[in-house]
Amino acid sequence: MRALYDVYKFFSLTQNDLFCNTSYPYHPYFFKEYVSKDDIMRNVEHLSFYFHIPFCKTLCKFCEYTRFLIENHNTEQQYLDLLEEQVVSYLSTHKIKKIYGLDIGGGTPSCLSEKGLQRLFSIKDLVTQDVFFVEDFDSSFEFNYETITDEKISLIAGNGISRISTGIQVYDNMMMKKHNRRMSKIEEMAKANETFRKEGIKKINLDIMYGFSKQTDKMLEQTLEVIKILNPDHVTVYEMRYNMNHLAHHSITRESLYHQYEYLYYGLLELNYQARFGQNTFSKYDDEGVSSYLRYRMKKGIPYKGFGISAQSMSCNGITYNSLKSNKSSTMPDIRKIKEEDIYSLPPEEVVAKYISIALYNGSFDCEVVDNILGCDSTKYYHQEFAFLLEQEYIELVNKVVFVTKKGFKYYGAIASLFWSSSHQNKYLRGGIR
Ligand code: SF4
Repeated sequence: MRALYDVYKFFSLTQNDLFCNTSYPYHPYFFKEYVSKDDIMRNVEHLSFYFHIPFCKTLCKFCEYTRFLIENHNTEQQYLDLLEEQVVSYLSTHKIKKIYGLDIGGGTPSCLSEKGLQRLFSIKDLVTQDVFFVEDFDSSFEFNYETITDEKISLIAGNGISRISTGIQVYDNMMMKKHNRRMSKIEEMAKANETFRKEGIKKINLDIMYGFSKQTDKMLEQTLEVIKILNPDHVTVYEMRYNMNHLAHHSITRESLYHQYEYLYYGLLELNYQARFGQNTFSKYDDEGVSSYLRYRMKKGIPYKGFGISAQSMSCNGITYNSLKSNKSSTMPDIRKIKEEDIYSLPPEEVVAKYISIALYNGSFDCEVVDNILGCDSTKYYHQEFAFLLEQEYIELVNKVVFVTKKGFKYYGAIASLFWSSSHQNKYLRGGIR
């Protein structure tokens, strides 16, 4: 059991804090004490892969990812060289037995030229040679309609990608313009989706967002209308996170966020999508609405290795961020000056906190994963946290899986914060880090 602290008091401090969400650590600075030179991926033979392509045609003001304006062919080449170097170096020092997922995200990977895409896929193939794949393995690729062409669609479908993902965020021209984002026409999007399907892509995902300042129910309704027309297989509903941008958020409260999620949730159910209340991901089928990379991350805590600028890797030994995490400049810094990665060897409590934050995208987490990380029974270790959350009916515990209830979802960030490490909670209590 952890040292006794006032769970109720801590929960009441974090429950209305918008910065308490699925981001962990609360602030990157919080991991500073764990800086290390260890290889956190040592002996990890079962894992997923992620490739980060940090280029975009325009930069949306709300974006929290590491992304730069695509400049020219040279930048693209240099970046792919870096990616290849990282992959080759990893493969020369690590043995891989089984792959659980492989996602290519960004940025906007479809910003790459046809030639660049072809090269990216040949780099991706380096990690998928001579390995086993989990039975429900799939590979997902992020794109946007503005940068996609028929030739790129053929390349994507012809190179082992089975799921594609893009965002419409908020289907309101004025709002997107204000955030420096161009909206594609519905006909253009429908046409590209049709081509993807003809080429054999099995699942199409659309991301939508809520929690923008001045976002109205009418805008949510318009967004649902577009979902109805485009009929994607998966829909991912993202809550706007204000941790990494400087957008105004004084009008946003946990109540207003809950209302917007609820609006979208029932709207999507009416369109025949399935999800438990509190899940971010919706599906037309009996799956979780995500790629296998995310599914195994969220549900089973499977390790992942990220390649490219700012990409994250994680195992039960800790976490690494490739360089330039949180870099907010619009153009890519000199690639030759980029050092490899920041490594943090984490104690089990930190690994658990990170796992639970990731898993809460799915509105649940698996106590068996937590038991394995801690090496003991998590319901005993977090006895007071479980007692409080169960008594308040914020969670349910079914066969060692925790599900956030409808009542609890309003405070999902505060629920996550109860599983932060003691050191993290103390730093939060001392305050003054923003
Ligand atoms: S297109 Fe996506 S990755 Fe690029 S700036 Fe906009 S939100 Fe960020």
